[in-house]
Amino acid sequence: MYPFTYNSRPARVIFGSGTVARLPAEVERLGLKRVLVLSTAQQQGQAEALSASLGERSGGVFAGARMHTPTAVTDEAMALVVEAAIDGFVAVGGGSTTGLAKALALRTDLPQIILPTTFAGSEMTPILGETRDGRKVTQSNPKILPEVVIYDVDLTLTMPVQLCVTSGINAAAHAVEALYAQDRNPVVSLMASAGVEALVSALPTIVGNPDDRDARAKALYGAWLCGICLGSVGMALHHKLCHTLGGLFDLPHSETHTVILPHALRYNEAAAPEAIAALKRAMGQADPARTLFDLAASLGAPTALQDLGMPVEGIGEAVEQALENPYWNPRDLEKEALRTLLVNAYRGAPP
Ligand code: NAD
Repeated sequence: MYPFTYNSRPARVIFGSGTVARLPAEVERLGLKRVLVLSTAQQQGQAEALSASLGERSGGVFAGARMHTPTAVTDEAMALVVEAAIDGFVAVGGGSTTGLAKALALRTDLPQIILPTTFAGSEMTPILGETRDGRKVTQSNPKILPEVVIYDVDLTLTMPVQLCVTSGINAAAHAVEALYAQDRNPVVSLMASAGVEALVSALPTIVGNPDDRDARAKALYGAWLCGICLGSVGMALHHKLCHTLGGLFDLPHSETHTVILPHALRYNEAAAPEAIAALKRAMGQADPARTLFDLAASLGAPTALQDLGMPVEGIGEAVEQALENPYWNPRDLEKEALRTLLVNAYRGAPP
């Protein structure tokens, strides 16, 4: 047993099917009189329905959330917050919508109730990445952590199968890196193993039968656990590479995680034997990195950065940037080995 520090993140979590009906009681429990309901344009219908269920306690809908939390969008929503005397936020959506709620909470310190509809896990973290003038800046602050999270599997039923797969592997990436984090601890490691186990078994079932509510619930449960991992311990090379690639080439979030994870895990494998042992147990497979690659490929998810729109000449720049201000990693960052990693990921070669 190694010495550790464990910080729990205070959040109220409600999980199940039909739990969206608990929203009015939760708004009331927090004493909120006028909440702003947030979503993307695509999910405006869901936001309108939630707003209607809140009656007088809704101060309206803002359906302008966008990927990477542009500050211009937050400013637009802030104007509404002031004008309508908003006293709390309800977000229905994936990481992009949660990001907007967090950005507003950071500015106002008002409470947030999040209803996640993907497996991204942002709702369990005190982390916010905001984009201003094309630069994404990430910060951590207790004000950013949502107060209440309502997981309702029914809200995930409309999530396209391809997003389920990439979002699920994105979630698994949080757990994989938690298992070899410098500040790992036994409680978070238990959650990481259980999260990976749930996702790896649920994703093929969802692809086989997109309406399988039990499989979607299992994946959502796994995503919750993986979100806690992301919010609790430090992330390493995998997340650094994904942030670098996303920022440099505007690559799609969960797809980039899906492509990089098997390669980042292979890179760290020899330096993280305990994590590998835990992943073997969780997956029931002898080669976790190859298992993740095969899982993505067999479920029709992307396995090559070139298919996500990354330019081949960007590999060198990505290596340089990944080496600048690196996150702690179990294996030293070696320039040539990183280049090989990215070339393989670019081509879609197995790890
Ligand atoms: P997303 O929120 O951008 O959603 C992708 C698209 O799918 C959107 O158009 C959305 O409206 C739609 N969608 C989501 N759920 C749906 C559903 N159930 N049915 C139909 N359509 C649905 O994607 P994401 O992968 O959840 O989030 C990515 C963003 O979250 C990135 O900006 C990333 O940086 C951020 N993120 C932040 C953290 C953190 O801790 N700060 C963690 C994870 C992700």
